[in-house]
Amino acid sequence: MHVGIVGAGPGGLFASIALADTGHDVVVFEQAQRQEDVGAGIQISPNGTRLLAHHGLLEALQNSAFEPEATVLQRADTGKLVFRTPMGQSASKRYGAPYLHLHRADLVQVLHAAAIERGIKIQNNARVAKFVNTSDSINIHLEGSTTQTFDLLVGADGIHSAVRTQMLGPEQARFTGNIAWRGLVPAERIDPDLIAPDTTVWAGSGQHFVHYFVRGGSLINFVAVKEHDYWAEESWSMPGNLDHVRTAFNGWSPGITQLLGSADTCHLWGLFDRPPLARWTGQRIALLGDACHPMLPFMAQGAVMAFEDAVILSRTLASGDNIQTALEHYEAIRKPRTTRIQERARRNGHLFHQHSALKRNLTLTPLALINQLAPDIIARRLDWIYGYDACAVDVERII
Ligand SMILES: Cc1cc2nc3c(=O)[nH]c(=O)nc-3n(C[C@H](O)[C@H](O)[C@H](O)COP(=O)(O)OP(=O)(O)OC[C@H]3O[C@@H](n4cnc5c(N)ncnc54)[C@H](O)[C@@H]3O)c2cc1C
Repeated sequence: MHVGIVGAGPGGLFASIALADTGHDVVVFEQAQRQEDVGAGIQISPNGTRLLAHHGLLEALQNSAFEPEATVLQRADTGKLVFRTPMGQSASKRYGAPYLHLHRADLVQVLHAAAIERGIKIQNNARVAKFVNTSDSINIHLEGSTTQTFDLLVGADGIHSAVRTQMLGPEQARFTGNIAWRGLVPAERIDPDLIAPDTTVWAGSGQHFVHYFVRGGSLINFVAVKEHDYWAEESWSMPGNLDHVRTAFNGWSPGITQLLGSADTCHLWGLFDRPPLARWTGQRIALLGDACHPMLPFMAQGAVMAFEDAVILSRTLASGDNIQTALEHYEAIRKPRTTRIQERARRNGHLFHQHSALKRNLTLTPLALINQLAPDIIARRLDWIYGYDACAVDVERII
């Protein structure tokens, strides 16, 4: 089929590769002038790296990745450890694929290069204005210029998806009441004893802080999340003010203080999501990634879910059904899982942000006890996420 993908974010680029590798001819339309991404880190869990490996992309990424030793939850008020779940070799052994930290720009660059290598056409400066169905095709209209005809349109155009809006109406994404500052700091500026080679989450009252290494350990990424009443900006990301984040996380830990003190810049995001959509597919259309299931980043699964979508979409299309049936199967397989992960991400927000010391004690102390007595219980709670293999799901069986 001739497939037009709207959006060259991680979801659109990976979908272009999965579809090209199953024999389709793909064009990607991206509104941005150049292929670039924000200066921030991204965690790709084994359910994502497994799919990158399946399409031959893991080796190129591993050169610039960082493999954390563990996932750690710490209390900001007492400094005490809640749990420490081994990653590194343990994750590779448990799930058959590594847990990786990457610079987003490295991820996008590898996906972009792999798409070009496969002959996928990526049109930059190409903002899709609308689509029009005909009896046996779908036309994509670009702003201010041409129309191109396809057999299938994939809307991978992110949380404010124009494809979703045309399909389902102009309902705005909802502000979740959280803002996030993100930044990268050269690791050489930080005392090596202060930041462990883990994915560390510090939980506090109405806010949490995450730090981890990227780019082979040469940079440290931070994500500082704080509850906030409103988001008045038109854009959902903008340059951030380091003084604000330093004040908000003042005295949290010596590592956080040094990290924020050594940062040159940061960006600020309003965190938005949507309730599960009524449908993800239409006539010759599939939504994918943040366009159909934007979520809070508190499970670090947004991009990984887009990778899973891409593989399931390519497999249902390859299953021999007609396009509409394949699209229905895609939606039926994917929606329950992404809905569950959207809910879990919200629940993690409650876990990380307990407002009173009593609530923190009631939720975090039992977790710390389980971590001491039976740490595998904590590791096991992630198996349904990290152990999922989109390449092995029975796409003939509709949930
Ligand atoms: C603070 C934070 C931390 C996160 N951490 C993680 C993490 O650790 N792990 C993880 O898996 N996920 C993480 N995420 C989520 C992840 O960033 C998103 O889920 C992911 O970027 C979604 O990819 P996408 O391709 O669906 O959409 P996007 O990345 O939003 O890409 C959409 C693309 O479409 C383009 N576009 C939009 N409209 C049009 C149009 N009309 N025409 C043409 N092009 C268009 C845009 O320019 C953009 O390039 C995080 C998110 C945040 C905010």
